[in-house]
Amino acid sequence: MKLETQLQHPPSSLNDPYKASATPIYQSATFCQDSAQAQGPYDYSRSGNPTRTALEEQLAALTKGARAFAFSSGMAAITTVTRLLQSGDELLACQDLYGGSFRLFSRVLTRQGITVRFVDTTDCDAVADAISENTRMIWIETPSNPLQTITDIEALAELCQEHNIVFTVDNTFLSPYWQNPLLLGADVVVHSATKYLCGHSDTSAGVVAVRSEELAEEIGFFQNAEGNALAPMDAFLFLRGLKTLSVRLDRQQENALKLAELLNSHPEVECVYYPGLASHPGHDLHARQSRGFGAVLSVALGSKERASKLVESTRLFKICVSFGSTTSTISLPCTMSHASIPEAEQKKKGFPTDLVRLSVGIECVDDLWFDLSEALDALTEVEQNEPELLSLPSPAVAVETRLLAS
Ligand code: PLP
Repeated sequence: MKLETQLQHPPSSLNDPYKASATPIYQSATFCQDSAQAQGPYDYSRSGNPTRTALEEQLAALTKGARAFAFSSGMAAITTVTRLLQSGDELLACQDLYGGSFRLFSRVLTRQGITVRFVDTTDCDAVADAISENTRMIWIETPSNPLQTITDIEALAELCQEHNIVFTVDNTFLSPYWQNPLLLGADVVVHSATKYLCGHSDTSAGVVAVRSEELAEEIGFFQNAEGNALAPMDAFLFLRGLKTLSVRLDRQQENALKLAELLNSHPEVECVYYPGLASHPGHDLHARQSRGFGAVLSVALGSKERASKLVESTRLFKICVSFGSTTSTISLPCTMSHASIPEAEQKKKGFPTDLVRLSVGIECVDDLWFDLSEALDALTEVEQNEPELLSLPSPAVAVETRLLAS
């Protein structure tokens, strides 16, 4: 079955006497038992709930995992994966990383005696050199958020197998519609389902999918022990959102590619980060390991003031910290999604403050371009009439150099 079909026909083991065509919401915290000894399939919703089971079975099928688990947010999912680590272990994470993951790794895991180091995972040799005898997990995003760097999943999976390291991929930027890291050798895949999987900016959710039963046992244990599983109503919204995943994402990607091309040739834009452009240094590798380029674009504008001005000038692209919704949004990562990386750390990492992140929705692309080009014209106007309001753009860095440096 192709994924588009699978989305409409979840492999539910739910034994519903009324054969409801939409999964019912089992809004019940506990389930009655016939006797003190005889336990049915469910006893308490923290441990298991039929609506959540229906969702988790569908997620296991879509991610190609042995099992999948639904959490109350992406960060809850990520936290649970890090429970596989113990004091004395080391986590190696990619340099360009979602701000919330950076905060968890650098300010929470380190309190538990776990060492965290950041490495350029786009360079497999650099990762091999960074591995120590304590390295127990490698964590990547590909494409990464927000610089869209591409890491070779198969090459790192091989390296991790050699060293008995748990290899985790945060696949939020693509969803299982476009990329299946578990099929490429990853052990664990996580998603912030708040983004594409739920798809309407109305639900917070997270997913962990694992390749082996052994890891499934551990993740299931922690999910129950720590009580961060997804609630029944949210599981229902998640299931409903999934039904339209393929049509939403096809349209979002089509729009994103058109906008990336138009922005790439606009004189006000210094650089466009989008693996769908042939000029992106990771384009070929990305095309080999996935089936789509996503619908998030990052654009560099030369200065933080120019980037802020653009963000504040669009009308259809609303200023929102998230991405992946059917509605287009715009953000300034350095003060929004990545604000949890302290300014000094951002500077050390060379995190660009002139970066604008666009999440492209399903609107008519002509309207989206009209909105963006008007906002870009506003930049030209301010520059001509009130240049003191905007810092001059940094001396234009060759696009290729800038992309590679990211
Ligand atoms: N991973 C990535 C790549 C993200 O962008 C985010 C949120 O923006 C998360 C994880 C965290 O997900 P959530 O906000 O659902 O907790």
